[in-house]
Amino acid sequence: MSSSTPGPRGRVAVLGGGPAGMATALSVHGAGHEVAIFERYPEARPAGNVLNLWPPPLKALRLMGVDTEDLGAPCQTEFRSSKGRVRAVVRSAPEVVEQYGRGGGFIGLLRPELYERMLAALPPGVLRTNQLVERIEQDDRGVTLYFADGTIHEADVLVGADGINSLVRRTLWGETPIREHRLHTIAGFTFADDIGGETGMCVISHGRRVQGSWTSIRHKGRSGYQWWVLEATDPEAPAPTDLHARATELGREFLHPLPDLIERTEPENVQRWVLRDRGYLDQWSKGRITLAGDAAHATSPYAAYGAGMSIEDGWFIGRALEGVDLTDLAAVRQALQSYEEPRKPHTKFQVDMAYRNGQMFHHAPRPLQPIRDLVFDRTPFLQKVVGDTNPKEINKQLALITD
Ligand SMILES: Cc1cc2nc3c(=O)[nH]c(=O)nc-3n(C[C@H](O)[C@H](O)[C@H](O)COP(=O)(O)OP(=O)(O)OC[C@H]3O[C@@H](n4cnc5c(N)ncnc54)[C@H](O)[C@@H]3O)c2cc1C
Repeated sequence: MSSSTPGPRGRVAVLGGGPAGMATALSVHGAGHEVAIFERYPEARPAGNVLNLWPPPLKALRLMGVDTEDLGAPCQTEFRSSKGRVRAVVRSAPEVVEQYGRGGGFIGLLRPELYERMLAALPPGVLRTNQLVERIEQDDRGVTLYFADGTIHEADVLVGADGINSLVRRTLWGETPIREHRLHTIAGFTFADDIGGETGMCVISHGRRVQGSWTSIRHKGRSGYQWWVLEATDPEAPAPTDLHARATELGREFLHPLPDLIERTEPENVQRWVLRDRGYLDQWSKGRITLAGDAAHATSPYAAYGAGMSIEDGWFIGRALEGVDLTDLAAVRQALQSYEEPRKPHTKFQVDMAYRNGQMFHHAPRPLQPIRDLVFDRTPFLQKVVGDTNPKEINKQLALITD
């Protein structure tokens, strides 16, 4: 996408150099406006290792000029019991499979490569690092960002892409409580090449209380696997002292290759996260400021779609601001509203579904667990929810992402 769109050139500030911030900057630049990302850390650093992306964010990335050639391993996704019974097959439309590859192009990758490729597509100077924003203000004429080092920056529009603990969200809408999912996940990756068994697969398996999953990945021309185990926890409890040992213990009840993958993973490639979100915001934008990504709709990894939705948000913000005179407050308000309105039902659906799935798989009362598993094993319930409905819902976005 080139920055050749005619129209008044405004100034857009983006707070946060994660997937939402980078995508917003790429799309806003493509819309012909001047854009700067302010990131508190010395670099735009990936928060974590494992990642899967659906086709809509891939399409948005391509349209924004990101090189998606050989990015990630396209995977066919299946939900199985820990004993290997297939409970649901994620079905994408044939045309999506044709265009995006195996399984409809749910790709397995490592986060650093996504960041590198997005950064490579940004014009020089857009990303400004070591810029901790402490306060923001807006009036009818513009937005002011106040940095920890005492400097300020002025812009016509601000996009808060500053994650689950967003300062921008808090400033606009006050504090909204964290919703603890009372779950944690331990994840890792390996390039061991003699594992044997299936490739090009994303296998999400559930035992009675633990999820044990793996997917093929492709990272900088190398093929490998990422895996994760997930269980209920007290969010206040200290992390296991040996993550690799805990993952090994949890992975034991699952079939090959999960236990092998965990064993073959170097301990430094193992990480842990506590799962939480922040519930739902009815309104994202106020005046000249809006929100994107986790700042607007923090999402549990159970959706495997938080980064994907963040990239989509960025794409739609650029499209909404294209050709808009950013000095005109009424025009800005209208543009930001036209961005957020269609995003809200889609992102709410994903946030809610991710939360519900986590509760259903890990917090069902003990006496109900065998009944739940019987339903999953013997009825089309799971196929309907995660195999048919959800990919359709996600792939509806593909049609909306057009050049
Ligand atoms: C274990 C795990 C697995 C996941 N798996 C997937 C998956 O498979 N697929 C998927 O799509 N999503 C996945 N997600 C979700 C995904 O990681 C997030 O939804 C995504 O990172 C959100 O992007 P973001 O840009 O909105 O926020 P972030 O990635 O949190 O970025 C926010 C940025 O803002 C910066 N910032 C914050 N405050 C300030 C400030 N005051 N001043 C300056 N800078 C600031 C931060 O340093 C950070 O760089 C997973 C998440 C986890 C935890």
